[in-house]
Amino acid sequence: NNHKTWMDSELVEPHVGYKKVLVTGGAGFIGSHVAEDLLARGDDVVIIDEINDYYDIRIKESNLQMLKDTYPEEGRVSIYKGDICDRELMEHIFAVEKLRWVCHMAARAGVRPSIQDPFIYIHSNINATTQLMELSHKYGVENFVFASSSSVYGGSKATFFSEDEVVDRPVSPYAASKKTCELLAYTYHHLYQLNVTGLRFFTVYGPRGRPDMAPSKFIDLVTRGKSIQQYGDGTSSRDYTYISDIVDGVLRSIDRCHKYEIFNLGKGSGTTLNKFISMVQKGVGRKAVIEILPDQPGDVPYTCADVAKAKHMLGYNAQVTFEEGIRRTAAWYKKCYGSGSSNSTVVEKKTESKEIKN
Ligand code: NAD
Repeated sequence: NNHKTWMDSELVEPHVGYKKVLVTGGAGFIGSHVAEDLLARGDDVVIIDEINDYYDIRIKESNLQMLKDTYPEEGRVSIYKGDICDRELMEHIFAVEKLRWVCHMAARAGVRPSIQDPFIYIHSNINATTQLMELSHKYGVENFVFASSSSVYGGSKATFFSEDEVVDRPVSPYAASKKTCELLAYTYHHLYQLNVTGLRFFTVYGPRGRPDMAPSKFIDLVTRGKSIQQYGDGTSSRDYTYISDIVDGVLRSIDRCHKYEIFNLGKGSGTTLNKFISMVQKGVGRKAVIEILPDQPGDVPYTCADVAKAKHMLGYNAQVTFEEGIRRTAAWYKKCYGSGSSNSTVVEKKTESKEIKN
């Protein structure tokens, strides 16, 4: 009875060869890493990002600058600054760049802020994704890969979250917006045979990580001797996934074109908050000052990915242990900031922020 429907599906041969890929949110954490790896293997990248101030925009500008500095040749990386919901701009990009592959990483992220301001999540997640799928259909895109989130599992009581589970209990506007994107993706596949793959990421961390997320935030605070806030008793557990493993899963999804699939991309094992804090202390080489607070509304107490489907259909296999990932992230932080960034945001100091043309 445990037999999953996808077990019978045949492995799809990867589409090898040159691609020009639209990476939305390419100035952000995951998008900039995806762009970097696509460029490194010889693909060309077109980036659209509005560079919003959800966190320090100097981080995003520095991410883009790094890509432009590493690949200065004409046509390798083209950067457009703007809102995906701007129809005229997006029509222009699709028409001029002749896009066939879309990797949609842009979104308003963050669970707690979505409770404060739900409308911006409807705009940047639901409206923007619909806009991109409309244009992908219109301009004949071959493969549309987009970022969903483990938050869609919401109120699930399962130990391992598996894609087969029917989950319609999102517990935050952010989670509801991601679930809506998955539903609309099915609709576009059904109506227009758009090939769509949705990837449910499980708490991603690593160098250039989002400063609002616990791994980067804790490394920064512990380095500077500031207190960290622990919600609950420390036994809550999350599946933390190192950025290079996520990028590997994204690239595999771009190469193997599926008709309509949803995949979990996680490490496949949970780490308790207590263990997480002790790893941060080890990585930074300093003891943490801990402030204990009650659990937050909208937070999910336990996340752990069942990655069997991604293993079987994508050949995905997360490699980096949590200990190793935190060690690398702390080492990166130290290289950029030494004893700590001057404010609580994490910005790479080595590049000046410059005006972005295009
Ligand atoms: P990020 O905030 O670093 O990157 C998102 C980028 O999208 C930002 O640079 C932002 O300026 C851009 N953006 C947002 N709205 C836009 C719009 N309307 N038009 C143009 N650009 C816009 O976030 P991230 O952590 O890199 O997340 C990437 C994707 O992965 C998001 O879809 C997020 O929901 C999803 N995700 C992330 C995690 C994680 O742990 N980081 C977990 C689950 C899902």
